[in-house]
Amino acid sequence: MSRRCADCCRDLPESSYYFVSKTSGKLRGQCKDCMRQRKLEQRDPDWTPSCSRCGSRLSVRAGSGRRLCEECFAQTYDTAHPRVNGAHRIKLKPCSLCGGRKERFERGKVCRACRPWLRFASSLRQFGLTPAEYMSIFDAQGGRCYVCGAPPGAIRLSIDHDHSISEMRRSIRGLLCNECNYSRLPRFQDDVGMLQRAVSYLVHPPAQSALADIRHPEAPAPPPPEGVVFFPEIQAGADPQSERSVATASDGHHVASRPGEPPVGSQRRPGARGTSTRSTGRTSGARRREQAGEGDA
Ligand SMILES: [Zn+2]
Ligand SMILES: [Zn+2]
Ligand SMILES: [Zn+2]
Ligand SMILES: [Zn+2]
Repeated sequence: MSRRCADCCRDLPESSYYFVSKTSGKLRGQCKDCMRQRKLEQRDPDWTPSCSRCGSRLSVRAGSGRRLCEECFAQTYDTAHPRVNGAHRIKLKPCSLCGGRKERFERGKVCRACRPWLRFASSLRQFGLTPAEYMSIFDAQGGRCYVCGAPPGAIRLSIDHDHSISEMRRSIRGLLCNECNYSRLPRFQDDVGMLQRAVSYLVHPPAQSALADIRHPEAPAPPPPEGVVFFPEIQAGADPQSERSVATASDGHHVASRPGEPPVGSQRRPGARGTSTRSTGRTSGARRREQAGEGDA
């Protein structure tokens, strides 16, 4: 059985490797040739060992064993919190949510303080937020949805972000309830101008000011706006299904002028509740409104 030498990368039989120890039977990573070469190099008084992690030459001739440069050492061992007996303490990965120091007894990716945030962790990581930063936004908003003012119920407020900004952390706008985040704001397509017009529309309804401005209410009816078709004409050649739906839609316009014809509803089979039920209901509503309008005029 052959193994590859870590230094010269040759595939050599096991007999060309020294044992680390005869009792364990463990072999060295380097072949005998490379080990001899190393020993020869180390006879040079200027020789210094290299970091066993990154391979950089060390400035001082350190003792035997595994040698790490200062950077690799600081990455591996926790120098800020040494153990009492002087042994090196392996550095644990920081808490994946708050980035704080984790104790050895704290199992898992997050520290003990961050455990209640675990189910929200993916969203926080997506935006690069720590729980403390989320809470500071939450408190700045008064603990409520910014738009509708609803407090978070069983579901936490979600993080709303500007989709036009690619950097997630910079794109965060605030915390919104699901209704505002997924329904209310998207209806306005994040259009500030549209929302401002909607506000002024609600505060000062334009119809009321227009009605107040009418000087001669008894004047004859003006023609409808240019190019506006209130009801589409029946198109010849269309398939009967759509023709019928068009007919029911356009009937509303003609009902008043053709009183002899049966109403729209009577053409339909009584049991048939087809797809056009909604449109018929709408047309009858439109017809009723129009009849009422014509009656008034
Ligand atoms: Zn070798
Ligand atoms: Zn190193
Ligand atoms: Zn944490
Ligand atoms: Zn809301």
